[in-house]
Amino acid sequence: MSLLITGSIALDSVKTPVEEHHDQLGGSASYASIAASFFTPVNLVGIVGSDFPKQYLDLFRRHGVNLDGLETAEGKTFRWSGEYEWDMNKRRTLSVCLNVFETFQPRLPEHYRATPYILLGNISPQLQLHVLTQLKAPKFIVADTMDLWIETAREPLAELLKKIHCLVLNESEARGLVKETSLIKAGRKILQLGPKYVVVKKGEHGCLLFGENLFFSAPAYPLEDIHDPTGAGDCFAGAFTGYLTSVERFDPDALRKAVIYGSVVASFNVESFSLTRLQTLTKKDVEERFQLFKAMSQFEMV
Ligand code: AMP
Repeated sequence: MSLLITGSIALDSVKTPVEEHHDQLGGSASYASIAASFFTPVNLVGIVGSDFPKQYLDLFRRHGVNLDGLETAEGKTFRWSGEYEWDMNKRRTLSVCLNVFETFQPRLPEHYRATPYILLGNISPQLQLHVLTQLKAPKFIVADTMDLWIETAREPLAELLKKIHCLVLNESEARGLVKETSLIKAGRKILQLGPKYVVVKKGEHGCLLFGENLFFSAPAYPLEDIHDPTGAGDCFAGAFTGYLTSVERFDPDALRKAVIYGSVVASFNVESFSLTRLQTLTKKDVEERFQLFKAMSQFEMV
């Protein structure tokens, strides 16, 4: 069973207080696709420029990511740069260059249109909606978003929320979306806007899953070394949706497990810059950390 993933494909330049790297593979769809590939084949929809390095295309292919929906346009690939403080929860965007993204209108290849499971990675809600119009019979749609769209594209975002099954966003975005200080109230209010489930990510403090008669609080994996938090949210969304696709179940029990798989893959990703760590990651590593997670969060005596 395949998962369709759309979002940005970028060349990122990232600076932390100890390291700096330029023009490395990034973008919401890149992180999400590789993360999801540990669970299911992926159909990628996106755009890159003629300067996009071949080695990154090979990386997608090695992970079983189908590139039939990847457009290569004349011009430069989308670029983003950001800088982290010593407290790596704090990040400043230094620059965003849309480049080929400026005129992008995703066109799904015919054989993608029947894909039942969808992850709309972080891009404008207008583009996310445009992808949805081309799908034949989507069964479960997960979407990610960011503060930029909450501030500048409220109407299309509201329209999108009525069409998706699950929204994944971080805590400040959840508060900003429904103008609430309490995360619990924010999660419940977002449910009223359309999605059946909402996942609120709290960075190194784990995440919360909301649904009707469902509340689950998951811790984050306690990592000692964080090198680059970029893309953690996208990896979470990719592994979360990838796991659900692999079991073809969307009930509360499956969603709880998916939240842990999302946290596990995201925790590996931040151990190195860009997607470096995911390139050597194996399914066995993922399963072992999943079991550690389980043991760590258990509080009943056995
Ligand atoms: P995250 O760390 O989960 O916020 O995701 C970081 C990734 O989002 C980077 O790899 C960027 O290339 C990408 N990104 C940053 N700004 C945007 C934007 N406006 N639209 C789409 N992707 C973006």
